[in-house]
Amino acid sequence: MKRMLSGIKPTGRVTLGNYIGAIKPFVSYQNEYEMIIFIANLHSMTIYQKPKDLRQNTKDLIALYLAAGLDPEKVTLFLQSDVLEHAQLGWYLGCMVNMGELSRMTQYKMQVEKAAARKDASIGAGIFNYPSLMNADILMYDPDYVPVGEDQKQHVELARNIAERFNSRYSDTFKLPEPLTPKVGGRIMSLQDPTSKMSKSDPTGKGCIYILDPINVSKKKIMSAVTDSDSTIKYDKENKPGISNLLEIYSILGKKSIPEIEAMYEGKGYGEFKKDLAEIVGEELQKIQDRYQEIVSGNYIDEILEKGAENARRMARKKLAKVERKMGITIKK
Ligand code: ATP
Ligand code: MG
Repeated sequence: MKRMLSGIKPTGRVTLGNYIGAIKPFVSYQNEYEMIIFIANLHSMTIYQKPKDLRQNTKDLIALYLAAGLDPEKVTLFLQSDVLEHAQLGWYLGCMVNMGELSRMTQYKMQVEKAAARKDASIGAGIFNYPSLMNADILMYDPDYVPVGEDQKQHVELARNIAERFNSRYSDTFKLPEPLTPKVGGRIMSLQDPTSKMSKSDPTGKGCIYILDPINVSKKKIMSAVTDSDSTIKYDKENKPGISNLLEIYSILGKKSIPEIEAMYEGKGYGEFKKDLAEIVGEELQKIQDRYQEIVSGNYIDEILEKGAENARRMARKKLAKVERKMGITIKK
């Protein structure tokens, strides 16, 4: 069985983008692949998190994964902070990456721009360094695939480069992972600004649908989503980013291809299209929210995480021991 790995940060309330780009695809992969999923709480610290919110967001993420149908018997699900080896391997790999490589990361460049715009040059060092930790998260487990949204593809490329660098400097140690981006839904955009990504850490929350939003709120958000000036329902990312984004959401949750949906709404207006989409989104969220309620009242999350961490630790210890032997860190024969 091929192995797949992915992490998600507990940096805010889970959005429809996270669900479509990461959670839902995972649930559909769990029967075909050996899956490792972790809650990237070390990564969440690159930006200050209120402790109370961090705790709540972490619990919600786990519960939402389970509510979306993830089976802890099939999947290794754990908290990154429970497997100390990630930070240690992150340090070693961080010593092999160049400043230039880290400076080219989009996330970092965006932070630099934002800091310049607010005339405040301070940027946390974690924002610069975190791709090293991410390399460790990925390479630790030798995954064949790392399913990611468009925004994360660059990180998998970097992990491949660092793996190659390590393998050629020492000897074959890490597998080169492949990024796996969905054709549709890899980058769900904000409903209020369809040129920027829907992100759970967006402080305004404008344009985000949260998975735990009350159903009527999520429907209202769809109805008031920004669309484009003409009124045809046609996929055209460049000229009609608003409607194209809604078409992607419709396609995934409504299980229809984009051309099929375009044909269904030929000659019809945005209002009708949005109303149907609002129903589809509402139904999907309702299902997840019902399961979520059962899970949070059931109290078995701790047990699942303990089992997941044990499993991950076993793999991570083995890998780290190998790395340290090769590098000469270990002196015992
Ligand atoms: P943050 O704003 O803190 O970076 P995020 O919403 O971007 O939060 P991440 O934790 O960075 O979420 O990413 C979790 C997973 O969700 C990744 O696999 C990422 O590619 C995917 N993802 C994030 N946003 C979207 C989106 N708008 N559309 C599709 N996939 C997304
Ligand atoms: Mg992100």
